[in-house]
Amino acid sequence: MREIKEFENLKVVDFKSPNDVAKMEEALRKVKSEFGKHYKALIGGKWIDAEKEIASTDPSHPSEIVGYVPNCGSKEADAALDAAWKAFDGWKFTKAEERADYLFKIADILTERRFEFDAWMVYETGKNWIEADADLAEAVDMLNFYGREAIRYSKGYEPHQIPGEKNEVKYIPIGVGIVIPPWNFPIAILVGMTSAAIAAGNAVILKPASISSIVAAKTAEVFNEVGLPAGVFNFVPGSGEKVGEYLVKHPRTRFISFTGSKDVGLRINSLSAEHHPGQKWLKRVVLEMGGKDAVVVDETADLDAAAEGIVVSAFGFQGQKCSAGSRAIIVESVYDEVVKKVKDRVEKIKIGDTSKQENWLGPVSSESALKKVTSYIEIGKKEGKLLTGGKVLNREGYFVEPTVFIDVDPDARIAQEEIFGPVLSMIKAKDFEDALRIANSTEYGLTGALYSKDRSRIERAKKEFHVGNLYFNRKCTGALVGVQPFGGFNMSGTDSKAGGRDYLLLFLQAKSISEKIV
Ligand code: NAP
Ligand code: MG
Repeated sequence: MREIKEFENLKVVDFKSPNDVAKMEEALRKVKSEFGKHYKALIGGKWIDAEKEIASTDPSHPSEIVGYVPNCGSKEADAALDAAWKAFDGWKFTKAEERADYLFKIADILTERRFEFDAWMVYETGKNWIEADADLAEAVDMLNFYGREAIRYSKGYEPHQIPGEKNEVKYIPIGVGIVIPPWNFPIAILVGMTSAAIAAGNAVILKPASISSIVAAKTAEVFNEVGLPAGVFNFVPGSGEKVGEYLVKHPRTRFISFTGSKDVGLRINSLSAEHHPGQKWLKRVVLEMGGKDAVVVDETADLDAAAEGIVVSAFGFQGQKCSAGSRAIIVESVYDEVVKKVKDRVEKIKIGDTSKQENWLGPVSSESALKKVTSYIEIGKKEGKLLTGGKVLNREGYFVEPTVFIDVDPDARIAQEEIFGPVLSMIKAKDFEDALRIANSTEYGLTGALYSKDRSRIERAKKEFHVGNLYFNRKCTGALVGVQPFGGFNMSGTDSKAGGRDYLLLFLQAKSISEKIV
């Protein structure tokens, strides 16, 4: 086993060097030539087919099929539960160092093949090159971080001792869990959720998001390649509503780790609370959900930096991030100036097929996403003033212009509901106090940013801006593993703090052991 050095984040490729550009172009060509393949489910170490399939398409060219995965049902789910429980018997006693080593090997392979994985993400989800590589780098970071965390937790801690006894506290894994990630960080979140549970000594069934099934299938191949014992990692693609829900309800499911929308999260929360005959535990649920995040700007701020931060936070990956800054709350005295600076920047954004390096803004993920976004744009036209954008591009692909509404009422639907697309609501506040109140006025509490040079306001926001991830004088997206543990308050979920030192504890339970000294 390797020597373990201190954790470090993997640097994201900025594609400024011609060498990196050439490698990415080559990867895009290679991946494109592999379009249309059929992938399999992985159950108990065997690759299997199901009766039906799911086709995954390229949102820039929806007629092109990126690949197919089996549409698994209850039969495959039952087989995966059997395999995972069987594997758990051995895996739970495998040394943490050994478990961690599998994660480090996966990290090495992903790093080695980063451009290829970037290319799959570009095609399957419409990420631009840098967003795709940031996703890949985050996945690698999660593996390297959680591997180290598993070793740290395996040491337990020494409780207070009393005479005549030896007392210990150990952390042990909890069992077989279902991992249900979203499609928007198709590798980072999937790998993070899966690897944390595995590193802690659990066996998992991964039910990927259908929209990013192929990135998931490719990642599953890597999990298999490192030689994890059969059944520790099972890959069961299929419909969330069908096989996902079946697994959530199942009495043999010990825990559910979910990241996705509020509605699905709430449904999983109530379904998993029900006790079924033969179920020997309360299911543990980790639910990370949506956001309606705000960038606040006061009159002391560097307004150019603020405008830049607003635009990147709102429109990075087409606004399809739970951390997206979909509200900009600006104090009255600088409102018009910031609006103008935002407009200038938004109108320069290059939109198009992200397999071309020059396009920064790509398509939204699917036809239903396009419908949802355009319906919110229609609502926005009634609730605010359209500053720029608002149209669907008249060409192949799910392209929507980056859209900004101004003079939006803080209680308007476009200021309260998660749109998950390239739509920004700009809101005028009377002063800093009012801006902070507005920022805290949604049911969510995931990320937020304040642009200000006023120290007392920064200190006040630290106490009162009620979000899981708070940033000053920078964008509200792009949390780094180990550096900014990630998770939100209120309807944003259970605040699991992915990429932080509390995260693995969610997949462990503490055992207190006491022995009388004789
Ligand atoms: P989603 O529609 O809720 O789907 C998430 C996952 O749940 C998918 O794998 C989906 O499978 C599955 N699913 C759907 N219905 C289910 C059911 N009834 N039972 C069990 N599983 C079910 O979310 P999404 O569209 O993929 O992702 C976008 C959402 O995720 C946004 O709301 C975003 O804010 C949130 N998000 C949150 C975080 C965070 O850390 N807080 C991070 C990223 C994204 P199918 O794909 O097959 O439907
Ligand atoms: Mg969905």
